[in-house]
Amino acid sequence: MRTFTFDPPAPVGIPVVGQEAFFPARRVYCVGRNYAEHAREMGFTGREPPFFFLKPVDAIVVVPNGETGTLPYPPLTHNLHHEIELVVAIGKGGKNIAAADAMGHVFGYAVGLDMTRRDLQLAQRDLGRPWDIGKGFDHSAPIGPITPGAQVPGIETAPIWVNVNGQVRQKSSVASLIWNLAEVIEHISAAWELQPGDLIMSGTPEGVGPVVASDLMIGGVEGLGELRVKVA
Ligand code: MN
Repeated sequence: MRTFTFDPPAPVGIPVVGQEAFFPARRVYCVGRNYAEHAREMGFTGREPPFFFLKPVDAIVVVPNGETGTLPYPPLTHNLHHEIELVVAIGKGGKNIAAADAMGHVFGYAVGLDMTRRDLQLAQRDLGRPWDIGKGFDHSAPIGPITPGAQVPGIETAPIWVNVNGQVRQKSSVASLIWNLAEVIEHISAAWELQPGDLIMSGTPEGVGPVVASDLMIGGVEGLGELRVKVA
């Protein structure tokens, strides 16, 4: 039997609604600027090809149904932003998946937050450097339970929102995605071979903004329930 120099990390398991088994997360792909009004608030206009970045899988904060997750305020930033997103969970892998076939690769959906150290992200962006320090920090990906796709047939037009301390910050519809879920899967699978366990944060609508210690974020996508995360 193979041994390791030290214990390998445990797999990240995300609860699945109505099932005992956990979804084993493998990679976290994220789509940049995929809602027109958010692209505008970040200083961009027009439909550009989709682009992607990744978060480490161990940046996921698993938030079981009915619980409130904890997000430690991360170091080096003074401008930690919420980005509420619909997360697509891949159940069947593949490469060069056509948009017409893409939804057959989906296992289910979850509510997620693409937490962002905006000051660091923008500084790196303006220098033409990678976004990792702004996007891929520890605890940067709180995600709620995964609902199997068959239970949420209307997900592509579902309302999406996040409140902070009871005040609405972001409120839109998945129907406003620039690149829809099938098109996102087509583009990602042209660049990487998707595998079961991959997660895709599909982009955030307008209204991103800062949170500080003790703030409570409650986000949701209709049909998937709520994701509650407190900043510590
Ligand atoms: Mn995002």
